[in-house]
Amino acid sequence: MCIDRTPYLAVAIDTPLRQVFDYRAPEGAAVGAGFRVWVPFGRRRVVGVVVEGIDQTEVPANKLRAAFEAIDAEPTLDPGLLSLLTWAAEYYRHPVGEVLTSALPVLLRNGAPVREEKFLWRLTELGREKALATLPARSVRLRAIAQYLTKQEQAPASEILSATESPSSALRNLEARGFVEEFAREKTDIVPPVSIVRAGPPLNEAQTAAVERIRNTLDFFASHLLYGVTGSGKTEVYLHVIEAVLARGQQVLVLVPEIALTPQLISRFRARFDAPLAVLHSGLNDTERLAAWRDAREGTARIVIGTRSAIFTPLLHPGLIIIDEEHDASFKQQDGFRYSARDLSLVRAQRLGIPVVLGSATPSLETLARARKQPETLSLLSQRAGSARPPQLALVDLRKHGATQGIATPTVMTIRRHLDAGGQVMLFINRRGYAPVLFCPNCGWSAHCRRCDAHLTVHARGRDLICHHCGSQEPMPPGCSNCFADVKPVGQGTERIEEALQQLFPGAPMARIDRDSMRRKGELEETLARVNRGEIRILVGTQMLTKGHDFPQVTLVVVLNADQGLFSTDFRASERLAQTIVQVAGRAGRADRPGEVLIQTEYPEHPLLTLLLTGGYAAFADGALTEREQSGWPPFARIALLRAEATDQDAPLKFLQDAHDLAVDFPVRGVQLLGPAPAPMERRAGRFRAQLMIRAPSHSPLQKFLSGWLPILAMLPEARRVRWSIDVDAAEL
Ligand code: ADP
Ligand code: ZN
Ligand code: ZN
Repeated sequence: MCIDRTPYLAVAIDTPLRQVFDYRAPEGAAVGAGFRVWVPFGRRRVVGVVVEGIDQTEVPANKLRAAFEAIDAEPTLDPGLLSLLTWAAEYYRHPVGEVLTSALPVLLRNGAPVREEKFLWRLTELGREKALATLPARSVRLRAIAQYLTKQEQAPASEILSATESPSSALRNLEARGFVEEFAREKTDIVPPVSIVRAGPPLNEAQTAAVERIRNTLDFFASHLLYGVTGSGKTEVYLHVIEAVLARGQQVLVLVPEIALTPQLISRFRARFDAPLAVLHSGLNDTERLAAWRDAREGTARIVIGTRSAIFTPLLHPGLIIIDEEHDASFKQQDGFRYSARDLSLVRAQRLGIPVVLGSATPSLETLARARKQPETLSLLSQRAGSARPPQLALVDLRKHGATQGIATPTVMTIRRHLDAGGQVMLFINRRGYAPVLFCPNCGWSAHCRRCDAHLTVHARGRDLICHHCGSQEPMPPGCSNCFADVKPVGQGTERIEEALQQLFPGAPMARIDRDSMRRKGELEETLARVNRGEIRILVGTQMLTKGHDFPQVTLVVVLNADQGLFSTDFRASERLAQTIVQVAGRAGRADRPGEVLIQTEYPEHPLLTLLLTGGYAAFADGALTEREQSGWPPFARIALLRAEATDQDAPLKFLQDAHDLAVDFPVRGVQLLGPAPAPMERRAGRFRAQLMIRAPSHSPLQKFLSGWLPILAMLPEARRVRWSIDVDAAEL
């Protein structure tokens, strides 16, 4: 590789400061864009990423410091990935140093070499016997290393030094004492096998057409929407397209929602391809994560599967990006660097000149709107694959029918019918805990969180009160805090539904799936396996049920309360509700048993529900898109949200009002400010929150406005009294 030697480097450093820092280039070999370098920063020595080599700097010579050294003899980030990241920093208005470092595995942020080290360290026999017994307590670092190697047995120097925060001299010191030794890693790099593909079921007509359409675009950028009901065989389509990409010697990047990255999905890929696979998810430790990242970067891994942040994985021969369940909220990061991995997948694919496939049974309105403009990229799978039949949807009017603990009489009868017929039943409720409110019937008091504008949720059959927004926990009061009368839990959560079902169907084996019941690692997989073996007859759960899991023997799905979300101030709430209902409904009857779906509601005439019932998600989406277009919301506009919070109630609104007033100095045609207003839940965890919305007809006026306006905000006097952030393309209001 040939890099032009420049006298200076513009370096991104992991700080909230919105700038790059200039340094003199280090002595020695040429260093350029994408390299990591050790640099002095204040009094620290930190890892920075070179954004570009520069010939001139405005930093005066007496202030300019020299970078110490390059970490590797090659760039860590290739030019394409580097420019994607700097583009994203600009687009999402986030400090470039934080963006670049967030894209790197932790060990690389700490200075580990980009390629796997050829040598490892381990304790000698002497070290194992004597090191910890003889090293004095004040030799903190030496002891830490000895302890680390006792636990890990062997590790490369960079990992040992970063885990124990030691300089390399510490390792040499131990070596001199005969406690540790360096040895060459055993050669394991056998050339990876050419991918072997095992056949799947023959594709149906719609699948074949989808595969054809995508395969025809492997040489350039195209964004495909694979719009298919749950069970229509989208994954089979992915597998066939992946096969074609592998045959071209290229790699495939597959992104899935956090919770959908299950062993089942991985094993389905492994069962089909005998090709090296790298999996990137939050459960990996730092060493595993770096190993997977290196495999992707060096091209060893042919298929890379990961959650949101995997969109930044380097690929040697990228050929295709797949975003499964593209509508899923987890693709948008909700704090810090608030990027959308789904949106960035389009940008990345476009820059690489490769196709991207977005798959969903309930596509986001953004993606649907785009597909309407390019019908040649839309693939519809409207039939379930194999022999499975679509489920029948029906509403249960909660106003007409009596309900036992939230389960209406007709629902109870339907459940009984399915159990008698040997089917499995699944009940969905979007709320964990026992009951959402603790209420005093005597005086009207209810239990509130001290730190949030929210009710405390009753948990553990009424033993605890927990705030779902800040985590505060209180013991259950013996009576009303106001009049001492007896209090009672009102409404239902998963725990209470489970209790009611146990009374209604004694003896039917049940499982509850929510964040409280599935805390232990592996517990979810275990429960799912029991469900699939038929050991569970009734399954109660939250959102967790809707993501990626299939329940082939479930014949009845009940949505216990569809009404939250029907009336919300967030213009996306109805979209999310429709997606949830259709996703839960789609879990039923995947095998040859026809499924039935009951939706309990107090608003059976609500247009969202009637549209869903008569025309499915497509009809809902048509209606919603028309509404969004008429009222000027995304995807027919772009929004950004300026949020502010403080312990003082007035400061956030004041700051946002000042910010609002400042906007007249940056007139951009079509840009409109809405608010400021208190956040939907104004107080959370003791902090008051407010927001100001910026709306523009499209992306470029929004960016133009933000680039002028945002940098000035930090100078507002109120800015120091609040914590503020900008959320471009905010997903939740
Ligand atoms: P989706 O990803 O859309 O939910 P899957 O690809 O998981 O759908 O397919 C659902 C089920 O149908 C799977 O068990 C799959 O093996 C099966 N299947 C998919 N395509 C076919 C086909 N063409 N013929 C027979 N079975 C199929
Ligand atoms: Zn009372
Ligand atoms: Zn709280």
